[in-house]
Amino acid sequence: MELSDLDERISGDVVAPGDEAWGAARQAWNLAADQRPVAVVYPESADDVVATVRFATEHRLRIAFNAGGHNAGPIDWSGDTLLLKTERMTGIEIDPAAGTARIEAGVLAGDLAAAAGAHGLAFLSGTSPNVGVVGYALGGGLSWLAREHGLACNTILAADVVTADGEPRRIDRDHEPDLFWAIRGGGGNVAAITALELRLFPITSVFAGALFWPIERAAEILEAWRTWHPSLPTTVESLGRLLQLPDVPVLPDAVRGRSFVLVEAACLGPSAEAEALLQPLRDLGPEMDTFRSMPPSQLGEVNMDPEMPVPYAGDGLLLADVPAGAVDALVDAFVGSSLLHVEVRHLGGALSVPGDEHGVLDAIPDPYVLFTFGMTPDAAVHAAVVRDVGRVLAAIGPWASGRRYLNFAEVGVDARTIFPAASYERLLRVKATYDPMDRFHANHPVGRTHPTASV
Ligand SMILES: Cc1cc2nc3c(=O)[nH]c(=O)nc-3n(C[C@H](O)[C@H](O)[C@H](O)COP(=O)(O)OP(=O)(O)OC[C@H]3O[C@@H](n4cnc5c(N)ncnc54)[C@H](O)[C@@H]3O)c2cc1C
Repeated sequence: MELSDLDERISGDVVAPGDEAWGAARQAWNLAADQRPVAVVYPESADDVVATVRFATEHRLRIAFNAGGHNAGPIDWSGDTLLLKTERMTGIEIDPAAGTARIEAGVLAGDLAAAAGAHGLAFLSGTSPNVGVVGYALGGGLSWLAREHGLACNTILAADVVTADGEPRRIDRDHEPDLFWAIRGGGGNVAAITALELRLFPITSVFAGALFWPIERAAEILEAWRTWHPSLPTTVESLGRLLQLPDVPVLPDAVRGRSFVLVEAACLGPSAEAEALLQPLRDLGPEMDTFRSMPPSQLGEVNMDPEMPVPYAGDGLLLADVPAGAVDALVDAFVGSSLLHVEVRHLGGALSVPGDEHGVLDAIPDPYVLFTFGMTPDAAVHAAVVRDVGRVLAAIGPWASGRRYLNFAEVGVDARTIFPAASYERLLRVKATYDPMDRFHANHPVGRTHPTASV
């Protein structure tokens, strides 16, 4: 195999082991992910992706993807694999009249949110502005507006893809409907995405922010959140969170080296109504209160997710319930651990409503999802973080639903825990039809057991 052949066929670049750029090229956003492809390809167009897929077929190579690179940790590098980094494919077109966006495969969520916001429109973005729209939306997409508007994957209206036979196709409900169904929640298992068209929402203002209390009040505040949110309308999305911040100079003085319990929320509708809903929590005397009216394009600031690539390890679980005992178990397992963050997000509302028009991730019936992680600057800390992630998941285990949310699975999992059995079987049939040689190597593969899979 001559990688220079591929380099000549594309307008983008190919970086191979031994090249000066190799170290940076194989890095993901999660700096702890040890990506070991045979080469990294930077396509600049759909034609480049077509050429790469054909080259991979000729040389029996697998293909893996980094869009934003936030879920690269679980990719299995045991076979010869080309890594497609789509970061140069950053085109965004907004159609204000139709209320839609067309994005190329490397666009980040914050950039789409800003472009949509310039037209008074909102993309269903999650807490982090620097996840890739494609990775986030193909894996489900839990946004700050999710209880009202459902999963981001089900706002995909059409996609430009390259299938394993090297053919570019435009897919939607009327063209290759099975393939179109499979990309909406099924991750990167069935085709290479070169562009997505997404529905946007005419929203110009959201009342959102975070309340901070010292972590010593963790059990009391999480209990208050737990009893506060069930009666809220679907226009409110909220989460309870514990945060143990390191003593590092990049953090502001007010929070550096300190630990907090937080409640974060985003509320659609008039801010006076949101303020009234929030009052019972404000009555508990938070030390800091960042709630304000903001355009949806600023929702990426609420959770203060890291802005730059970081080394970390984490994982998540869907929960069937969060009773008082679960709060106590979570606080006991997390406080004083090596972990930075644990959150429990309230789901329900539109997320739990199936729809005939939806994709493979039709709905999430579980009422909560948990996600936890810690920074892993070196091997010793990494081992401690992995141990403590396991302890948190074990502590909350009695309330786990047994299902996983693909985007929050940061380790290899059995994909049958992500989808209902009938959906999983249909996804396997789509995979067998469009990618029978398993060319596309998703971080969470279907039809093949991940080498490190655990439930
Ligand atoms: C700090 C942080 C905050 C987060 N907040 C949220 C949140 O609020 N809501 C939520 O739902 N998730 C959230 N996530 C999870 C996030 O959505 C997933 O990690 C998602 O996979 C990120 O997408 P990415 O493009 O950055 O990842 P990548 O690792 O680049 O991609 C993930 C997978 O998507 C597929 N893929 C990517 N590009 C293509 C392509 N062109 N063609 C085919 N397949 C492709 C591949 O299978 C790839 O392995 C968060 C993660 C982090 C680290």
